[in-house]
Amino acid sequence: MRSTFSISSARRGRAARLLCLLSVFLVAGGSAQAQKLAPPVRFRQVAPDVFVHTSYHKSAGTTAPVAANGLIVRTSTGALLVDTGWNSDQTLQILRWVADSLHQHVRMAVVTHAHEDRLGGIAALRANHIRVLGSPLTAKLALAQQLDAPTPSIQPYTLIRAGRTRLEVFFPGPGHAPDNVVVWLPRQRVLFGGSLLKDATATTLGNIADADLKQWPAAVRKVATHYPKAQVVVPGNGAPGGPELFTHTLRLLRPGSNPQTRTALNSK
Ligand SMILES: [Zn+2]
Repeated sequence: MRSTFSISSARRGRAARLLCLLSVFLVAGGSAQAQKLAPPVRFRQVAPDVFVHTSYHKSAGTTAPVAANGLIVRTSTGALLVDTGWNSDQTLQILRWVADSLHQHVRMAVVTHAHEDRLGGIAALRANHIRVLGSPLTAKLALAQQLDAPTPSIQPYTLIRAGRTRLEVFFPGPGHAPDNVVVWLPRQRVLFGGSLLKDATATTLGNIADADLKQWPAAVRKVATHYPKAQVVVPGNGAPGGPELFTHTLRLLRPGSNPQTRTALNSK
């Protein structure tokens, strides 16, 4: 099975770029409602060439919007995206930011599990001819929820190369979701834990509807063991931190650590 991808460094012609912008405009037009409900996507740099995008989901009647993080990685052959926004409009904001601020195009995207905050913007990527990769299980679970599915090319361990940049995708076992993968950037020592890891201020495990609370701790330990050199650890929600997010997540997973966990364990 092919497990290494490279990104073509061929430049697109002017006509192709215009077509791309046109499709951005067309898709953006249909989602004005989503824009009204949620704040704009935010961006922050966490390491050389590595940026976190944060998009917000606010449904009518709820108080605080739910924030979700993904990554943008600048490479010599174009940008790589880890996870979309919640929807197409936010994902188009990400593509625009990459074009305006990094002066690049997104060449490829990886989605880390089959929930809306990870792959809700696949349509916007496809409209802009961007390859979207995920695991076969993520593709299957997305289709079962009638969500757009990624191309099922990610194996339990997959290496993506783009110029001198390496990006490893690793499946440590089920945790927050049965299909959650993490992404490691060895040059920048950035680990994107996604929803497998909780931020330092989290007091609950968040959405555990599809979680495997028995196997989740082992998955966190496996990631910590696998990537001992991680300096920046990016959780699925909340502020990036360091390796202390491993121990914080394990603390939240301890039986009896909070009412939400207890309830979920009892119901298993
Ligand atoms: Zn999720």
